Amino acid sequence: MMTDNLFLKIINKQIPAKIAYEDDLCLAFHDINPQAPVHVLIIPKKVIRTHEDIADADRDVLGHLHLVAAKLAKQLGLEEGYRLIVNCKEQAGQTVPHLHMHLLGGRDLTWPPG
Ligand code: 5GP
Repeated sequence: MMTDNLFLKIINKQIPAKIAYEDDLCLAFHDINPQAPVHVLIIPKKVIRTHEDIADADRDVLGHLHLVAAKLAKQLGLEEGYRLIVNCKEQAGQTVPHLHMHLLGGRDLTWPPG
């Protein structure tokens, strides 16, 4: 996992991103290396390094990420279905040390994942 929090730079607009949604609690932007026709990352503005680090105090923001994901899925035309993924730590493939939810859709997605 990288040591630099790249997504904090995107939140702070130090690095550009194609933003799909933003409010006080979260930011959603299109992945730079999309794995499906729709591939959006939904992140809390609060720095939470990994899913393992979530706390009771994060309950509202985590619920909010799901509500935003459902709204974006509708807006982006994913009526046929979509997948939400949170990779936690190196073995699961997490590369950026800032909790993020992948919203993937627009093609048939196989199971099990790799
Ligand atoms: P992870 O592998 O940590 O679950 O997901 C990190 C994701 O961030 C990857 O899908 C990767 O393509 C994406 N990503 C990495 N750097 C950037 C960037 O600078 N801009 C955007 N929009 N996405 C990025």
